Amino acid sequence: MSKKVYWNEEFEIMERSKLEKLQVERLRSTIKTALDTQFYGELYSKKGINVDSIQSIDDLRKLPFTVKQDLRDSYPDGMTSTKKGESIRLHCSSGTTGQPAVVYHNKHDLDSWGNLVARSLFCAGARPGDVFQNICGYGLFTGGLGFQYGGETLGALTIPAGAGNSKRQIKLIQDFGTTVIHAIPSYLIRLYDVFKQEGIDPLKDTNLRLFVIGAEPHTEEQRKKIEELFGIKAYNSYGLTEMNGPGVAFECEEQNGLHIWEDAYFVEIVDPDTLEPVADGEIGELVLTTLDREVMPIIRYRTRDLTRFLPGECGCGRTHRRLDRITGRSDDMFIIKGCNIFPMQIEGVLMKIPEVGTNYLIELVTENDIDEMHVKVELQAHCFSDSYKDLENLQYSLIHKIRDEVLAKPKVVLLPPNSLPQQEGKAIRVVDHRRQLRITN
Ligand code: AMP
Ligand code: ZN
Repeated sequence: MSKKVYWNEEFEIMERSKLEKLQVERLRSTIKTALDTQFYGELYSKKGINVDSIQSIDDLRKLPFTVKQDLRDSYPDGMTSTKKGESIRLHCSSGTTGQPAVVYHNKHDLDSWGNLVARSLFCAGARPGDVFQNICGYGLFTGGLGFQYGGETLGALTIPAGAGNSKRQIKLIQDFGTTVIHAIPSYLIRLYDVFKQEGIDPLKDTNLRLFVIGAEPHTEEQRKKIEELFGIKAYNSYGLTEMNGPGVAFECEEQNGLHIWEDAYFVEIVDPDTLEPVADGEIGELVLTTLDREVMPIIRYRTRDLTRFLPGECGCGRTHRRLDRITGRSDDMFIIKGCNIFPMQIEGVLMKIPEVGTNYLIELVTENDIDEMHVKVELQAHCFSDSYKDLENLQYSLIHKIRDEVLAKPKVVLLPPNSLPQQEGKAIRVVDHRRQLRITN
C-alpha cells in the first residue's frame, strides 16, 4: 500500500490529545485578541471574562454566542482588534439585510487561510502542478480570491476564470489543460449541457480529473449525478465568509463527510432552540470559533447551518472530525444563484410599495436546470381596473428593487387580491420546488 500523503502532516494527523492542547493555547490567545476589539472588549468586561477564564476547552462553553447581527451592528470595523491597521484585505458576506458582515484580514490571516484552502484542495486529491480553474465570482465573495490564493499556495497553475460564460470556460479548460475545477454544483450541470452542445466530451477531450463543489446546499444524489455525467469525482467544500470563506471543512478522497480543520476552528454542534450541545452524532446547529485569526477573531459564531458529527475514524488517517453535509438552516435563509437571501429582505422591498397588498409568496423553482426565484405578489384591487395603466412599470420596478436588495434577479408575478392561498397560523413565505438537479441526457 502506498504511503499516505498530506499537505500539513504535522497538523492533519496530529494526535487528538495534542490537537486539543493546541486548541486551548490558541483559544486563549484568541480571547486575548478579542479583548482588544470594541465588541468583545465591552461584552467580556461586562461579564468579567478574561484570558484566565479559559483553562480548558470546556470553559469555552461559558462564553456568549456571536450572531450575524453582531457583525452587522459592528459595521464597518467594531469587531476588529488593534491589528486592524495591518489589514490588507476585507470581504463581505453576500446578500444580507442592511449592513453586510465584514471580515478584515492581515497577512497572517490571509496566509493561514491560503494554507487551509491548499490543505483542503490537497485533501480532495489536487496536487502541485495541477491546472486549477476557479469558476466562481471574484470580488467581495470569498470563493473567488479564497480559492485563488489556496490554489496558488498549493502550487497549482490557477486560472481565475470567474463565473459564467460557459463557452469561454470550456475554451480555457481545453487550451490550458485544466485538471481541477471549483464551481457551484448547479453550474456544473449547465456546463455539461454546453459541453454537449459543443460536441466536446469532457472526459475524452479534456484533462479534467477532479471537481470541487460547494457554496450552496446540495444532496448526495446531486453529487452522484455530476459524477456520473462527467465521469469525474466531485468533492464537497464548505465555508462561510465569517470564518474566512472556503477551507473550513472539506471532503477527503474517502468522500465520507467533511474534515473540519480543528487547528483553525473550534467546533460545537448545539440545539438551535436550547443552545445546549446535542448528543454526539445528532443534528444541530454548527457553532464555530476562529483559532488562528489576528484581525477579526470570532467566538462561538452561530452559523445557522445544520449538520452532525460523523462517527468513527477516517480511512485517510486525518484526525480532524468529519461533518455530514449541511442538511438545512436553523433560520429561513435560502441561497439562489450564489446569493444568500432572507425572505424579510424581499418583504421589506414589497411593503414600501403602496400598490402592494398584504400577501406574497416566494417560490423557488428549477427551470432548464437553473434555479430561479419567483415572487408572487398580491396587489390592491384598483391596480386591475381599466383606469390603472402602470402595471408593467410596477413589475419592472419591483424586479429591479428586489434585485438591488438581494443581488439576484427575480421573476415577479402580479396578482389580484386573494389569489394566493391564505394561511392559518404562521405564514409560509417561501416554497422550495427546486427538484434536485434535472439531468437532460
Ligand atoms: P457566504 O458567506 O456568502 O459564502 O455563505 C456561506 C453559506 O453558504 C454557509 O453558511 C452555508 O449556508 C452555505 N454553504 C457554503 N458551502 C456549502 C456546502 N458545501 N453545502 C451547503 N451549504 C453551503
Ligand atoms: Zn478523511
